[in-house]
Amino acid sequence: MQNQTIFQLAGSGVQQLIPYQPGKPVIELQRELGLKKIIKLASNENPLGPGPKTVAAIQSALPELARYPDGSGFELKRALSSKHNLAIEQITLGNGSNEILELLARTFLTPESEVIFSQHSFAIYPLVTLAVGAKGKSVSALNYGHDLDAMLAAVSENTRMVFIANPNNPTGTYIQPNEVEAFIKALPEQVLCVLDEAYYEYIDAKEQFDSVTWLDRFPNLIITRTFSKAYGLAGLRMGYGLSSTLIADLLNRVRQPFNNNALALVTAEAALADQEYLQKSQQLNCQGMQQLTNAFTSLGLPWISSSGNFVSVDVKSEGLPIYEALLLKGVIVRPVANYEMPNHLRISIGLREENQFFIDALTAVLKDV
Ligand SMILES: *Cc1c(COP(=O)(O)O)cnc(C)c1O
Repeated sequence: MQNQTIFQLAGSGVQQLIPYQPGKPVIELQRELGLKKIIKLASNENPLGPGPKTVAAIQSALPELARYPDGSGFELKRALSSKHNLAIEQITLGNGSNEILELLARTFLTPESEVIFSQHSFAIYPLVTLAVGAKGKSVSALNYGHDLDAMLAAVSENTRMVFIANPNNPTGTYIQPNEVEAFIKALPEQVLCVLDEAYYEYIDAKEQFDSVTWLDRFPNLIITRTFSKAYGLAGLRMGYGLSSTLIADLLNRVRQPFNNNALALVTAEAALADQEYLQKSQQLNCQGMQQLTNAFTSLGLPWISSSGNFVSVDVKSEGLPIYEALLLKGVIVRPVANYEMPNHLRISIGLREENQFFIDALTAVLKDV
């Protein structure tokens, strides 16, 4: 009875929340199965590990750990401002770009607000929406990607925010920039457009377009980027938002004064400067994507064409038992049934030998079903 009372104390949105399910950590599987060799292709992490320059930066920051970090993140913001050709006041640093998404919800949403996102899109959007008691509207996808016309049609007078992931996770689908631009232009000004570009650096150079140039024209636009993917620093927790100074000012009022730790601030700046690492990551991803999709073709499995560092493959039967059989062989991938894709598995691109280990395991597992 008492537990029930405490449950009722939580906001009604919080009561409906299902906690985010992260990819299974390697040490957890090691503990469970005692396997020697385990590879994880489950959380879209960069298989290269952090570059030597970023490791050196972490070491150089260690002696200062007794001090609070620079709460304004000035040096990193200065580097980002020069990279993106924006004012420092247009940048918000977050503990991962996920924190920016959460800050946006806490800053702009009330229980009266509606928020629009696409089916098969990032799980954090409904999570941050429900957590503040706002109402989420999931719009049916088109060929696994965003149906922008339907999303626009779903806007009501209560809509305050739209989330677009480009490329999208977990499908990898990419919306052409001119379509995104037309969509933002058509949005009423009281609707914020959150353009989540966590996989921006992986977009094929021929298709990449710098959406940051739109900020001049769209005061309701906020773009998020991260150091977690192509920069190889998922464990460090550093992401950022680019917006009008007004949006950045409002987010800055809500954020914790020391939301970014001292190591992350220094290391991200070093990572930003290491373009060689970035190119290596892009190249490795391109080759790995080819390697995996070639294997899927050989196995007769359809996959969704992806612009990210992962690919979702249709295993033509329920994904969960295949995921579990892969675990027994020491391979961690990501089931996506909770994204309404019960027959797909999402595979992050790994090193060449990791991809091959996965392909061999999948081939063996499929023989048994
Ligand atoms: C991985 C990912 C992020 C990045 O989250 P961080 O908090 O920066 O690690 C953001 N959006 C999407 C769609 C992602 O897949």
